[in-house]
Amino acid sequence: MILLLAICVSCDQLPVSPPESPPEVEESRATPHRAEALRPNVLLYVVDTLRADHLGTYGNETIRTPQLDRFAQSGVVFTNAYANSTWTRPSMASLLTGLYPTRHATNTRGAALPPDLQTLAERLAEAGWQTAFITANPNVGSAFGFERGFDSMQEMYARREPGEVTESELVTSSNVVTKRALAWIDRAERPFFLVCLSIDPHQPLRPPARFDVYGKGRLDFDEIVRRQDEGRMTPELFDRILALYRAEVTFNDDSFGKLMSGLRARGLVRDTLVVFTADHGEEFGEYGRVGHGLSLADPVLRVPLIVSLPSSERINGGERIDETVELVDVVPSILDLVGLPNPGDLDGQSLFGSDTPARPALSTLRLRKKNLRAAVSPPWKLVHDISSDRWDLYDLHVGEAKDAGVAGNKKVRARLESALARLGKERPISPANPETEIPARTLEALRALGYTE
Ligand SMILES: [Zn+2]
Repeated sequence: MILLLAICVSCDQLPVSPPESPPEVEESRATPHRAEALRPNVLLYVVDTLRADHLGTYGNETIRTPQLDRFAQSGVVFTNAYANSTWTRPSMASLLTGLYPTRHATNTRGAALPPDLQTLAERLAEAGWQTAFITANPNVGSAFGFERGFDSMQEMYARREPGEVTESELVTSSNVVTKRALAWIDRAERPFFLVCLSIDPHQPLRPPARFDVYGKGRLDFDEIVRRQDEGRMTPELFDRILALYRAEVTFNDDSFGKLMSGLRARGLVRDTLVVFTADHGEEFGEYGRVGHGLSLADPVLRVPLIVSLPSSERINGGERIDETVELVDVVPSILDLVGLPNPGDLDGQSLFGSDTPARPALSTLRLRKKNLRAAVSPPWKLVHDISSDRWDLYDLHVGEAKDAGVAGNKKVRARLESALARLGKERPISPANPETEIPARTLEALRALGYTE
């Protein structure tokens, strides 16, 4: 009943745009002084494992990301955006709830989203948006409560029978995500809220041959994990992994471009809020490791964040914002831009408010016996290893191999330490926040992605 009423209201305010062609002329048709769409569509596009510094628009001169570079010109680029954790589930939970990992507690191997927390999808669905999630990572599926608030949930790694998962069964190619996304958009009522999580730059790296332009060949990631465990990684091997990674990023860039072309062909670009980001980055040997979820180092913590809504006067295409921001800021920002009230109990803050204070970004990692917290305010980063009660202050211009020392940095250290207090106490695992019994097929899919804890 509520949903029907809400849809009628939305029809009143935002007419459904029929599919149109040709695709490239939408902007020129727009009336220059048209009122802002009050209830825009929302597309939240997340690329798993995409480092901020592996996009052209973030200054990388080697990689080819023409589609995202072009998209960035239509939106605001946040040049210092940080994830709130360095592996998929807690980071995505923060992105989708606006809460720190300590508050949503979806940050250990079996933890699911607590049922008493309201997700962005639930908030938008309640307000009349039609909602869908297309996920290519089993860490963020219905096994862990991530279907909540979505009218449609497409989990693209699933298989019917337990057993060893082959690479082809991981499906997951971003071009398939794009096809599924456009097919759903064609069926959806307006306004819609669509979340896409693609996974091309995540191990095992198997780019289509036509995108493998940076290096060559394939790598056996089981062997790489063994080598890493035995301390037998070499600079040459890191370079080969990086070449395949770049190819996957270029492939994902192409698929994202096709999705944007699809929106343009349907006359939807102008009134669709597009938020492009990643759940975390990846290490490529900077500190002797490859992978993510191993540390809170900058290569795995910094993510791209680009926000576009051509019909809004609050978003200036091509603007670059250097203030430190974090993924928990995305939910309050979306609520703000679509005209819904901030519930007041979120950890993030709207990036488009007039009085948003600058503050350090906060991250946590609880995986593989690690229990780390970090506060970042470039060029400074304070990391607290809770298990050993060790504190390290890093100057990011120098790197994170060596503590910057206390001398002359007492003020910085005190400021970051007090920022860490915002994380609060860890929410305990409780009946309201169960450790999930992971279904066998989800477990197999997780193993195939290298989650072997
Ligand atoms: Zn991830």
